[in-house]
Amino acid sequence: MKKYKPDTLCVQAGYSPESGEARIPPIVQSTTFYYEKTRDMADLFDLKSDGYFYSRLANPTVAAFEGKVAALEGGVCGIGCSSGMAATALTVMTVAGAGDNILSSSAVYGGTYNLFAVTLPKLGIECRFFDPDAPEEEIEKLIDGKTRLIFTETIANPAIVVLDFEKIARVAKKYGVLFAVDNTLATPVLCRPAEWGANIIVHSSSKYLDGHAAALGGMIVDAGNFAFKGNERYPYFNIPDESYHGLVYAEQPVAFGTKCRAQMMRDLGAIMSPQNGFLSYIGCDTLALRMERHSRNAERAAAYLAAHPKIEWVKHPSLKGDKYHALARKYLPAGQGGMLSFGIKGSVEKCAQFMESLSLITQETHVADVRSCVLHPASTTHRQLSEEDLKAAGVPHNLIRLSVGIEDPDDIIADLEAALEKV
Ligand SMILES: *Cc1c(COP(=O)(O)O)cnc(C)c1O
Repeated sequence: MKKYKPDTLCVQAGYSPESGEARIPPIVQSTTFYYEKTRDMADLFDLKSDGYFYSRLANPTVAAFEGKVAALEGGVCGIGCSSGMAATALTVMTVAGAGDNILSSSAVYGGTYNLFAVTLPKLGIECRFFDPDAPEEEIEKLIDGKTRLIFTETIANPAIVVLDFEKIARVAKKYGVLFAVDNTLATPVLCRPAEWGANIIVHSSSKYLDGHAAALGGMIVDAGNFAFKGNERYPYFNIPDESYHGLVYAEQPVAFGTKCRAQMMRDLGAIMSPQNGFLSYIGCDTLALRMERHSRNAERAAAYLAAHPKIEWVKHPSLKGDKYHALARKYLPAGQGGMLSFGIKGSVEKCAQFMESLSLITQETHVADVRSCVLHPASTTHRQLSEEDLKAAGVPHNLIRLSVGIEDPDDIIADLEAALEKV
């Protein structure tokens, strides 16, 4: 399917029926699969042939969605996970263990930050955070012989920082370290990290890929562009895995994807369900159309808010004055997605007043689906933090996060306007 453009891949990739079969992927709601011959099953276990045997490792409905996202990202293999967090955790654990370290941008999703800063250290994996705007030399200084991964986000949630891909790719290449990008808020319609040097792409498919806030899910894509063979940073790719019949992952056609599924998914079991694979697959059909509309609507909302006297500041990379405008023009030329944040002049109470005066736009924890929604982190997701801690986390007390949906932009602006009048 590689010759098609992204808009076509959204609709067509991942599943093509044989004559007489269902046109869209059936929901194969079965834990297990029947085989007549013992030999056939043995070959599956030895990875000598392709096929399904247990839905904790692979399932045909989930495979359709995996194929679609892998094709969109230009990768060689997709692995559907139970959530975005599972995708990130499995990615790290495929390459790192106790005594190893990873590098991560400090501007990452809150759940990712907790995983890296609190949970992984308890398992002996250290995370070294870097400022994504820091110069290369500073980031390089954090790398040592035990560094297994550099982790970043294309558009950071909620800081709305656009990644300087080429800077990170240069560092990763120089030291032979795997480079992973969470591409959730950009989607492969707006940016394909593998084209800019990333090796692994992860998604929370709970957001734009599904698009309808219907199915929790995650996706790992192996771009197939990293040389594990002989790379001393990755001994467990280069010695036989005795728990998998002596397989040497670096010698497999898809090294990372095979280790991730055959070893990590086998042992941790955080697989996507067939039902969620189906919902995500059909949701993704309209991804290209939706991302165009999300981006245009957000541009309008950002411009409107930026000109409003009751608004102190607005962050969206479409704005000429935005710190990340230049990077967005390079890496996200077709649009920057629907996520923006802004600050209302005045106290926290003003934020609550504004949010409660909205009628079309609703208050939710979710982002990046078809419906416009808002969240006030200081009184919800970040409410345990003091005003000082909020500042350090880049979440000022008056920050409102707005995920712009695909409704008519006039209605979105009118709702913002009416609510601002009440403040
Ligand atoms: C939501 C989100 C996640 C976590 O995904 P879940 O599906 O909620 O587990 C990870 N990264 C980003 C950028 C997100 O927005």
